[in-house]
Amino acid sequence: MYESYWRKIGNMCDITFNGYESLSYFANGKSLCWFLESKLEEEIRRLHNVVGNAIVDDYYVVIGNGSSQLIMAALYALSPTNQPHPINIVAAAPFYSSYPEMADFERSELHKWAGDARNYDKDEPYIEFITSPNNPDGVIREPVVNGIQGKLIHDLAYYWPQYTAITSPANHDVMLFTVSKCTGHAGSRIGWALVKDKEVGRKMIKFMEVSTIGVSKEAQLRAAKILGVISDSCVNPTLDNFFEYSQSLLTDRWQRLRQVVKANDLYVLQKYPLQYCLFTKKFYETHPAFAWLMCKGSEEDCEKLLKGHKLQTRGGEKFGSYSRNVRISMLGKDEDFNIFLQRLEAIIQELPDGN
Ligand code: PMP
Repeated sequence: MYESYWRKIGNMCDITFNGYESLSYFANGKSLCWFLESKLEEEIRRLHNVVGNAIVDDYYVVIGNGSSQLIMAALYALSPTNQPHPINIVAAAPFYSSYPEMADFERSELHKWAGDARNYDKDEPYIEFITSPNNPDGVIREPVVNGIQGKLIHDLAYYWPQYTAITSPANHDVMLFTVSKCTGHAGSRIGWALVKDKEVGRKMIKFMEVSTIGVSKEAQLRAAKILGVISDSCVNPTLDNFFEYSQSLLTDRWQRLRQVVKANDLYVLQKYPLQYCLFTKKFYETHPAFAWLMCKGSEEDCEKLLKGHKLQTRGGEKFGSYSRNVRISMLGKDEDFNIFLQRLEAIIQELPDGN
């Protein structure tokens, strides 16, 4: 979706490497994270300061191959090693569908998936994922278990101004971000964690060391360049502000989707609050990266129903929810989104009572 912005930017993000550069596993910075390029660390801290979505002072930055790898690293780092049983991992349903898989993929003795956080009633240690705004339903979230034995991972992949109002700088113990959702450069595979506790940071870095001995220097330096351009675009009025641009793209897509859905009685979309954004200094309604659609009154499998009309969605069951819900990506290319809307509209017009 953001391709048009990056095309407009032209060659500002170009970057070249000579054959003799970036050969080492090590970065030259002074970071606890020994493979983190100092330029990237600097741009990450600058962007958070410009946007105001997270506190960075007194936080360690840990870089990962996407925030996916950092989710695994955080699970490793937060799991106690002195317990007879694996620690329980929970998230409130509907939750990001990769969490259960990540928790259990290696059948680790450290942690295990324990399902919907709302049903968690064990008097045992646990780790809770708080995804805010949430994937798949875009809701702003807080922890739900609130037990004293809990450790929290705040997955803030979508806490950027194009998706939701920035209401305060986040200052949680472990916060995860990714360029995939911030800038659209999912293919660069760069994510980062802001970690308050040095020991937790150290363990996450150890995980990264054992799994991939760090993160590609080329990807890090490209990400540094891109994040730098975004920060510049926010402070330099001669540049097209990235977040304002992407806000208007998402606002337009959401308006068009709501219009199509409103024209009938069959589908319902989640509603979102209008909140004051400290970054834009305007009120802004959440415009999530995904639409969470409910096929009303239907016992049918909504994913199957839409697939029958050549619409690719993800069924609610994959997110620990019901098959009457589906998740629709709002971030695809323009032409794909347009075709999606046309097909959705066509289903509605096919309805026998013309409703
Ligand atoms: N967390 C959430 C909530 C996500 O939606 C995603 C991507 N779908 C990720 C983490 C992982 O993103 P990446 O590995 O591309 O950084």
